[in-house]
Amino acid sequence: MTLLIAIEGIDGSGKGTQAAKLNAHLNAIGHKSSLLSFPRYRQTCFGQKIGDFLNGSFGSLDAVHPLLVSLLFAGDRFESKELVEQTLAEHDVVVCDRYVASNVAHQGAKVDGAERTQLIEWIQHLEFSIYRLTPARLTLFLDVPVDHAQRLIAAKSKRDYTDKSADLQEADGHYLARVRDVYLELARGTGWETIPCVHGSSVRSVDEIAADVASVVVPFIGKQPKP
Ligand code: ADP
Repeated sequence: MTLLIAIEGIDGSGKGTQAAKLNAHLNAIGHKSSLLSFPRYRQTCFGQKIGDFLNGSFGSLDAVHPLLVSLLFAGDRFESKELVEQTLAEHDVVVCDRYVASNVAHQGAKVDGAERTQLIEWIQHLEFSIYRLTPARLTLFLDVPVDHAQRLIAAKSKRDYTDKSADLQEADGHYLARVRDVYLELARGTGWETIPCVHGSSVRSVDEIAADVASVVVPFIGKQPKP
């Protein structure tokens, strides 16, 4: 049994936090689980250029066509393909903090209508049919409205790929709102599990959200056929 589980959501939605909690919980209850995080800013050649892009080295967010941007994120995963396959071979669960759907949501958000549909299909073709990356078996979408996510981004500690408190994407609330819309569209159409992370006017606690995540993932793993 090898299961790749993707944790998705807009920037600042708690993906890193929840992916780490889920991985720890799965190990604590006896699964052999490992955690991977994309982009791999420091570890891949493409990841370093993603850092440059998010720092504005290639111009503003809309200065580079999303199809070309998608090549960087897909390339980062292609460069990590052996690592993903090796980690899957050595574990029964691999939790990914972001995966292919992040590329789809972030680039798809920059165009509309038929152009969005074509771009999404193109990215999926590139990542799954050409690069032959392992698809996620389960995707969880952490749904956080943009104003809350931006407050969480402001509270983040310094990242190694940027000196800024918010990178190009994180600083642009209008862009993040469009990314959230694409995520919601994908979640409705593709059988993802959506975890609402805000209740009333507050973000729910890390532990409450983690309990919801576990309540989806643990039964899902239990239903998988044994090897
Ligand atoms: P992402 O990986 O989606 O960008 P992070 O997991 O890095 O998000 O979380 C962003 C910031 O918000 C971090 O400083 C994290 O500690 C904090 N955080 C995450 N989830 C919550 C939560 N439910 N309540 C309060 N703070 C949170």
